[in-house]
Amino acid sequence: SDIGSQKERVVTEEEWLQKWEMGNIGFHKEQGHPLLQKYLDVLLNGRSGLRIFFPLCGKAVEMKWLADMGHSVVGVEISEQAVKEFFSEHSLPYCEEPVPEITGAKMFQSTSGNISLYCCSIYDLSSSIVGKFDGVWDRGALVAVNPCDRQRYASLMINLVEKNSLYLLVTVSYDPNKHKGPPFYVPESEIKSLFG
Ligand code: SAH
Repeated sequence: SDIGSQKERVVTEEEWLQKWEMGNIGFHKEQGHPLLQKYLDVLLNGRSGLRIFFPLCGKAVEMKWLADMGHSVVGVEISEQAVKEFFSEHSLPYCEEPVPEITGAKMFQSTSGNISLYCCSIYDLSSSIVGKFDGVWDRGALVAVNPCDRQRYASLMINLVEKNSLYLLVTVSYDPNKHKGPPFYVPESEIKSLFG
């Protein structure tokens, strides 16, 4: 798995915050992702009332879709602007509270209680804080993680899922020597070695 020149590349949290401030968010899909529609049945597998996790969630509209279907959605996002835009763009009232276990973190929860977005780094989370999940929608998440942090990210995700959980992962395929990323190129061989 040759990820070429991307191996050493690091995008800092500050750079992500700047992207949000500048409106440099080409990754955001206003209409939601067609692959979630296509594979929704695989994720749900006939189950209802699931707890679904959105790592590095941005303001993904798919969170609203799943909440409207009766699932409970938890996301994590470093940009408070993104979190606030999510709630305001869907006209969802929310409340905001500190997360006692994580210094400086805040949790934004829809008043209806079915969408909880943690504003902090994903690396600050653990299952003792957010519990475990029945499903994961990983789009723009593993591919946005710095290549040097992938192992840590995968270990955390494995820790955050229930035994019978289902995990949908979207990656992009391209020549990593032609684009510096993100999104980073994550070959299938690497996914196998990260997740087993
Ligand atoms: N999954 C979303 C957003 C993808 S872009 C979508 O499909 O639209 C990646 C997002 O991860 C950005 O919004 C960025 O601000 C956020 N992010 C980057 N590093 C993070 C970290 N360590 N913890 C939490 N969020 C992070």
